[in-house]
Amino acid sequence: MPENTAAPVRICSDCDGFASVAITLGGRDRNGHLRTITAHCKTCVGTGTRRNAPRAVAHV
Ligand SMILES: [Zn+2]
Repeated sequence: MPENTAAPVRICSDCDGFASVAITLGGRDRNGHLRTITAHCKTCVGTGTRRNAPRAVAHV
C-alpha cells in the first residue's frame, strides 16, 4: 500500500521554525506601545525553513 504522505518541510534546526522574534527593549513609546525590535534567525534569515541545496560540496 503506497503512502501518500507529503515530503516533510525542512524546518530550520537553529530556530525550530520560529524564525522571527520580537524583543522588548523596555519602556513604552509616547503612544503607550511596547518598544520592540525584531530579530531574525541567522541561519534561515527569517524563513523558518532550510534550503534544499546541499551544505557542503566535496572538492577533490
Ligand atoms: Zn532559523
